Parts: sequence; structure tokens; C-alpha cells
Amino acid sequence: GLASLVPLLRGLQNQQYGAYKRLSGAFTSPTYELHFDHIQNDLFAAPSRLRVRVPQSVAGFPAEMLANKARTTALADFVLRAVYRYVQTEGPRGLGGGGGRGGGFHSPRGGLLAVDVGGQRVLPRSALLMDTENVELRFYYPLPARGRTVLADPAISALTVFLPKLIKQTLHYTSYDAAAVAAFVDCIEDQVTLRTLLREHGLVAFVPNGAILPRESGVSDRPLATADAVPFQSPPSLEVSLSLPHRGTITGMGIRRGVTLIVGGGFHGKSTLLQALEMGVYNHIPGDGREFISADVGLLKVRAEDGRAVTRVDITPFINNLPRGKSTQEFTTADASGSTSMAATIQEGLEMGCTGFLFDEDTCATNFLIRDYRMQHLVPKVREPITPLIGKVRALHAEHGVSCIMVIGGCGDYLDVADTVIGLDQYVPADLKVQVADVVSRFPLPTPPEADGESYGTLPTRRPVFPAFTGGKPPMRVRALHQVTLFAPLASSSGVVSDVTAADMETVATARAPPSDPIWDLSGLDQLAEVAQTRCIAGILETIMAHQQQKNQQASAKSPTMRQMLDEWKTRFDQASHAAVAHPSTKVGPASLPSPYAARLPGNWSQPRLLELGSAINRLRGFTFTT
Ligand code: ADP
Ligand code: MG
Repeated sequence: GLASLVPLLRGLQNQQYGAYKRLSGAFTSPTYELHFDHIQNDLFAAPSRLRVRVPQSVAGFPAEMLANKARTTALADFVLRAVYRYVQTEGPRGLGGGGGRGGGFHSPRGGLLAVDVGGQRVLPRSALLMDTENVELRFYYPLPARGRTVLADPAISALTVFLPKLIKQTLHYTSYDAAAVAAFVDCIEDQVTLRTLLREHGLVAFVPNGAILPRESGVSDRPLATADAVPFQSPPSLEVSLSLPHRGTITGMGIRRGVTLIVGGGFHGKSTLLQALEMGVYNHIPGDGREFISADVGLLKVRAEDGRAVTRVDITPFINNLPRGKSTQEFTTADASGSTSMAATIQEGLEMGCTGFLFDEDTCATNFLIRDYRMQHLVPKVREPITPLIGKVRALHAEHGVSCIMVIGGCGDYLDVADTVIGLDQYVPADLKVQVADVVSRFPLPTPPEADGESYGTLPTRRPVFPAFTGGKPPMRVRALHQVTLFAPLASSSGVVSDVTAADMETVATARAPPSDPIWDLSGLDQLAEVAQTRCIAGILETIMAHQQQKNQQASAKSPTMRQMLDEWKTRFDQASHAAVAHPSTKVGPASLPSPYAARLPGNWSQPRLLELGSAINRLRGFTFTT
């Protein structure tokens, strides 16, 4: 029982650090259980992983708050934020000087509890799981030491004095203002509902009046101070009103299916609007300014990724007749150009089932967007492998129902192919329908955009996802990736990373393959929202690879296609988040996020979108996709 923890810790005082291993396992009391899932080997290793589980009979979160996935996710996220604040303000400090800025997070010297809390977005997170049976909090704790020996007193005070207080103050419903909890949960549920309403109304995105789009700075995700920000106001002609269960009617700008351009002078807020749409696939906390900015979950941002790896993608709609007869039906390269990377990303997106694409001229390859009148004459079509996007956007929508939202500052040719043109002037949007018609009739293009009117071309073939490693074994660097994720690196969503790995949001690399030589460069995924999602993707990749290796032993086994694989993970996500802590009696319950190593119980994962999962797999290096 829990009562034995104090004498046990006291008995460890001054022993070798390894004696902490005796804590492994569970300590129970009538009101909660404390599990030591992993004990670190020494003070400098990744912190120990612990878990607290409180039965709902004690925690008392009302069933109505857990009525569906949206509400459960919101409630868990709300409680986790409260835990984080409590650790920050009330947490034990004084050891190793960790307690200052970012207090409550990982301190390499030991002594501080750490939870992996989210930023501006609300996502299913493995740090706090909830269902109608239990509340489970997963945290990290660097067990304290003096030199190489156990320092019992701070551990006793953290785990037997502070922790029970934290549990009472944050994991019991009675400590909360019920109205505040309900407001948060209702707001998130409304955002989820709004996203489903988009499709019914023929919209791909929605920006409510009053939204605050700009961020504090280029490196901050927090809203710009209201005094400096111009709140969003829809042009009357684009305004739509939608009805939400809790909030009631919400009014704002609806972006319809089709081809939409966002134009305007430099620095007038175009990219800011597009970025808000990119993140509109997620739910935001109240007060973020982007709550209720909503985008279809099937929207994928496409950008030029010079140097990305591409494996066996049919890019023939856009690229043909490469020099030296290189195939574009099964295009493979370790070093794509700006334009070939964009072609591959679009085709991969279609393969994954995207409903639309987002582009910002700032981050596109110009030669992929257009070939203007003069270039068409200077370089004849037979010598130009690229068919620019401008000739394909209409067919993309007409034939495949796929929309495009494009920020365009310089390529006026696109006015010919747009359904809607939104102009930004001093951050204020206007519907430029009339002006565009006037410009298009007064200044017609000398010839229609190249390839306009042609069919889109071949849809991507259904490639099997996984993978034959050359020689039948994973290459060294992929094995290194296994190790990284096995060690479950501790990194907070605010960017603090442990020394085990340099797993920042964009680059998964190991000590042996440093960030300058990434195995896996995800910097092109603008809609990857936080490090915790990257960790989850890395974990899923491990599962897939382990599974595939088993399969590879059986000669007849077939690899799934990308679509099949994403469907499977969708099901797993959906099921997992419903039954976060399904087996309260067992020591190790299933995670709210599918974990390949259930026993590892990561406390620092958050759920990625399926599109980011697929996009990440598509960017792996060192694979050949087999049939
Ligand atoms: P563009 O892409 O049109 O060149 P940006 O979107 O990069 O312009 O915006 C330029 C600057 O204006 C940025 O610093 C951004 O934070 C700021 N900004 C954008 N929208 C607003 C707004 N609604 N209110 C105040 N500042 C804004
Ligand atoms: Mg811009």
C-alpha cells in the first residue's frame, strides 16, 4: 500500500542510486494508485515515469462531461492544464535550481515533477486520460540524488506530501468551478461540431467575425495583443451563419469549395490568414483568438521542399520528360527540387484522400505555379518537363472535387482560374468578384493558362506503404530511430528536449545521426502542431515497422496501401480515445493513444492528424516501397 512508500524511501537514503529500482510497481490507497512504470538508471538519465490513477468514484467528474470523444478530450486537456499550473505554482523546488522559469518541467538535476501539457490546441494527450471509470495522470520525475546516492527527503516530500495535494486540487472535480469546466468543454465541442457543419454547407473553411489571427511574434503561438490586432470581419457577400449546440449562431466568412485566392499587398495579412486556416483543422483553447476558425480536416498545406525524399510517386500530371529519361510514373529521388517536391506532395495528398490543398506563394516554387507568356515562347513546351499548377487547379476540382486555397501576391494569371478572390487591405478582407471580372476582361491573357482545359491526369497509384529495406534488414539509421523512440525522450511541448535525442518538432534524429543529418525531415509539414505529435508519429512508425518485419518473414504477405493503413489508424485512434482507461484493474491499461509498447506508457504524446502521419511516412529515407 501507499503507506509503505515513506518507510521504503527512508530506507533507501544514502544507498546507491540503483536502489530506487525497488520502487518499481504500484502503491495503492483507497483514493488513488501510484505506479512507478520506469525508474531511471541514474540522475542524468531520462526522468522516471510515474502514473497516478484515481477512480471516478473519488474523482467525481460527471458522466455528462464524458458523453462523447470531443467532451472527454476537452475535459482531459482542461484538467491537464490545471495540473501543469499547479505544479508550476505550488511544486517543490530548491533542488538543482530547477524551480525558476518553466518550473514544473524537466530539471536535469532532479527534483521536479513534469507533465507534458499542450499549447494553444486541445488534442487527445497521453499525459492525462479519462473515462467514466478512472482519471489517469502520467508524469515524469527525476528521482533526487546527492552525487551517486539516493536523497530520500525531497522524494518523500514530492511524492507523499505534494503529490496527494496535487491530486486533490486537480484530479477531483469538486476543486473546480463547474461553470469554468463546462465553458471550456462546451467551447471545444462546438468547434468539433462546426467542423462537421462545414461539409454540409459546401464550405472548406470558416473564419468567424471577431477572430484574432495574428500571433504575438514569429516564434510565438499566442495571440497578438488585442490593442494591436485588427479583428477579423467577413465581407458581407461571403458571410455565412451557422448554428452551434452551445454557443448558438456564429457568423463569419465561409470559404466555399473550389479555387479560392487570397490576394493583397505585401504585409497586408495574407500569410497570417492562411496560417490560421492551416491550424483550423485543430481545436483551440478559449481566448486563443483562433477558436472557431475552422478548416476541413482533409486540407493539406503544400510547400516546396527542396531536398526532400520521394519514393515511387506518380507525378505525371505535373512532370514529364525529365532529363535522361528519368521516370515520373514512379518518381524516386533522395533530393527533390522545389517543383518536383510539390508535385509529389499533391499526388501523395490525393492518395491519402485530401479534400483540398493550401498554398502560399511565399513558399511555393514559382515554376510550379506558372509559366508565363514569354517563358512559353522562350522555352518550348517539349523542353519543359513541368506542367504548372495553374493548368490543373480547375480539373482538380471538377474531376476530383478537390479544392485549393492559394495565397497569391504576384501571379495574376491565377485570376482566370479562381472561383473566389479575397483581397486583404490592411488586414481587412474584401470580396473582389467585381474587380476581378473587370481586370480579367480588360487585360486578357494572350493565351489561356498552359494545360487549362485538359484533364487532371493520372491519379496516384495505390502504392503499398511498407517497405522493403534494402537487403531485407532495416538500414542502420532506421534502427537508430527505433532506439530513440524506445527511450521515449522527454521533451516538453514548449521545446525542452532531453539529451537522449534531438527530437524537435521537425527533425527526428539520434545522437548518432545529428539534426544536420536527419533520418526524417518533417520541416515541410506546416500543419504538424507540436512535438508531442511527432513523438506519437515516431511511435506509430515503430509499430508499423515491427509489424512489417514480422510480415516480411512470411513471403506471401502483402503490404497495405497508404489509404488502408491510415484507415486502420483512424479506427485505432477513435477506439482508443473513447476508452482511455478501459481496464482499471490491470496495472497497465491501454493508452488513449495507440502505443506499440503498451508497457512503455508514454506520458508525452498527442494525437496527430492522419494526414501528418501519412506525410511523415512519405518522407522517410532509405526505404523502397514494394509491390
Ligand atoms: P503578407 O503575407 O500579406 O505579406 P503577413 O500575413 O505576413 O502578410 O502579415 C504581415 C504582418 O502583419 C505580420 O507581422 C502579422 O503578424 C501582421 N498581421 C497580420 N494580420 C493582422 C491583423 N489582423 N492585425 C494586426 N496585425 C496583423
Ligand atoms: Mg506572406
